[in-house]
Amino acid sequence: MTASAFSLLFVAAVAATLAARLWLARRQIAHVTARRDRVPEAFAARIGAAAHAKAADYTVAKQRLGIVETLVDAALLVLFTVGGGVALLHAVTERIDVSSIWRDVLLLAGVAVVSGAVGLPFSWWQTFRIEERFGFNRTTLRLWLTDLVKGIAVGVVPGLPITLVALWLMLHAGALWWVWVWLAWMGFQVLLLVLFPTVIAPLFNKFSPMPDGAARQRIERLLARCDFAARGLFVVDGSKRSGHGNAYFTGFGRARRVVFFDTLLARLDVDEVEAVLAHELGHFKLRHVGKRVAWSAALSLALLALLAFLANQPWFYAGLGFADAAVPGAMVRPGVALALFMLVLPVFTFVLGPLAALYSRKHELEADAFAAQHASAAALTHALVKMYEDNASTLTPDPLHSAFYDSHPPAALRIARLASLAGAPQPQAA
Ligand SMILES: [Zn+2]
Repeated sequence: MTASAFSLLFVAAVAATLAARLWLARRQIAHVTARRDRVPEAFAARIGAAAHAKAADYTVAKQRLGIVETLVDAALLVLFTVGGGVALLHAVTERIDVSSIWRDVLLLAGVAVVSGAVGLPFSWWQTFRIEERFGFNRTTLRLWLTDLVKGIAVGVVPGLPITLVALWLMLHAGALWWVWVWLAWMGFQVLLLVLFPTVIAPLFNKFSPMPDGAARQRIERLLARCDFAARGLFVVDGSKRSGHGNAYFTGFGRARRVVFFDTLLARLDVDEVEAVLAHELGHFKLRHVGKRVAWSAALSLALLALLAFLANQPWFYAGLGFADAAVPGAMVRPGVALALFMLVLPVFTFVLGPLAALYSRKHELEADAFAAQHASAAALTHALVKMYEDNASTLTPDPLHSAFYDSHPPAALRIARLASLAGAPQPQAA
């Protein structure tokens, strides 16, 4: 491939991705707006007209911000690549008097800082304009800034060592460096899994043991019934930042924890809490978590092999803003290869998004079925309706937008499935 052919292919892919994203966003806005004033029949008894209209307005507001962000991101990507941004960072860092690995670290940091800075106004607008307007925001500017600083620290502290290791291996581990980088990356992921619940998450929130009471007893019985050992049940002060609610599992092996948002516990009754947890438990028992880990491990190995190939192609650099820097058959610098690869990859993997979303929606329906079997389908339906209402999630997404992006099936489909399961025998329900 020639450099100009690759440039052309890349710019065409950026344009196609951008067009697809904007088209899907406009479809979603039109679809939701057209259904704003009428609650779908299946929900009419439980969700009021005002809540339904609020969900529509919230969805549209987020989509509009998303459109602006999509445009800005595409412009930034073009500037970094064919616009010569990474090439400029390369030239600047070449002149800094440090070892070549640290030059690469500085180059990658440059890309990260610029991207992060461009993303900040969007994050601010989302929190203090959109979330605020719809009554979800409980974050103060001070907390938002503290989170930002902590977030950077949490990114740098583990991110810097793994970057150094990867760059070193790219230079010194021979032709199969990508296999070694993959092994290092897997080890790093396991370390993060261990550190997340015990070290990282507590930096941002307070975790307290779930108080004794009816809910706790029901949950413990459910865990015992499903033969699931957890290292404790926790409540997290999610209400510190937002009114959105959730429940999740974290950690793995013996360090597994169950975490509930205080906002969720405040809103759901005991049956509903049990049903939501049964759904999460379904993800574990049906090995969804393990399957996802296996997929992402296989995918990262394939991507590293691709990076190893591209890193040795002169057209890869020359096509992305390095006019005359590329030497045939040699990496310009590992950091350059890494930066360009991470920038352009999402453009070419965009078409895989719907497949990943489809896979995830399949798992969600399976976890719902598991919950219907081990707890109550009716309680899960009630819990979902409350969560849709509280989170102002739209009940009427555009089918194509949903198929492309949504990790969870549309509300109407989930609830119709649960209704059909509610009639089925529930051998293990209490
Ligand atoms: Zn789920």
